Amino acid sequence: MHQPFQGKIILHGGARSVPSEMKTSYLDGCRAAAARGWEVLLNSESALDAVEAAVIALENDPTFNAGYGSALNREGMVEMDSAIMRGPDLAAGAVAAIRGVANPISLARKVMAEGEAVLLASEGALQFAVKHGTPILPLSEMVSAAQYNQWLSENKSTGECKDTVGCLALDQQGTLVAGTSTGGLSGKHSGRIGDSPLIGSGLYANKICAVCATGDGEAIMKVVLSREIARLVEGGMHPQSAAEAGIKYMAESVHGEAGCIVLDKHGEIGIAHNSEHLSFAVVDATMREPMVALHQSL
Ligand code: ASP
Repeated sequence: MHQPFQGKIILHGGARSVPSEMKTSYLDGCRAAAARGWEVLLNSESALDAVEAAVIALENDPTFNAGYGSALNREGMVEMDSAIMRGPDLAAGAVAAIRGVANPISLARKVMAEGEAVLLASEGALQFAVKHGTPILPLSEMVSAAQYNQWLSENKSTGECKDTVGCLALDQQGTLVAGTSTGGLSGKHSGRIGDSPLIGSGLYANKICAVCATGDGEAIMKVVLSREIARLVEGGMHPQSAAEAGIKYMAESVHGEAGCIVLDKHGEIGIAHNSEHLSFAVVDATMREPMVALHQSL
């Protein structure tokens, strides 16, 4: 008998308060990225390809704080973090504080493919990028007008730009993959690295489940949030309960603001946040098009 396609994608566009005039951009961006990831998942049957494609779509959309349109640091520069992790073999690759790379998720994937280091930062990451044929753009080409204006209005202090992106995919073979990409917090220290490229903090994937986190990177790192949530799912908890328990634990332990998405090997999902909003999209074979929402905290 013909088996229905088991794959699934869930992605988010950050845990933040989204002003009402920007809601449509967030929802449209999440929908388009999920549709792109789904197209790739159907064609390549690879969760890795699907996560990379969906994250590239989000990086290329200036609505989100990743790739072009990333938040600016204190010096008015774009420095980005990104990571990708594949569940079955715990393979992972990440780049941190990288400048001038249009799609940091693809560079993170190359780090994973090379298999020597897990996390490359700064100059070494740029050298790796050049060696692997990734173009390095003039730094001004990464700065969107919206982010520049926000940077001016925030007077270079740490702002509220928590619209990092993350994506999880499950393919027909049962492989789970997690990917993240961000410009980090606006007005951050030059050289500051958040949770997004840190395996176990901003993301995690194993044979059982995959997790992405977003929000206050320092809070997420201190509780190693993604690994914590994965541990709960491994212990038999449903992804939704694990997501809620993880955010509660983070809020009680370190008083941060964050959100997370979770996907397990059965295609069950979890979404939780203590920020005002979390934009997300989900797609699987039962849907005619991705389901998108700007989830509001209760
Ligand atoms: N977690 C990211 C960071 O702290 C920010 C975000 O999620 O938007 O760098």
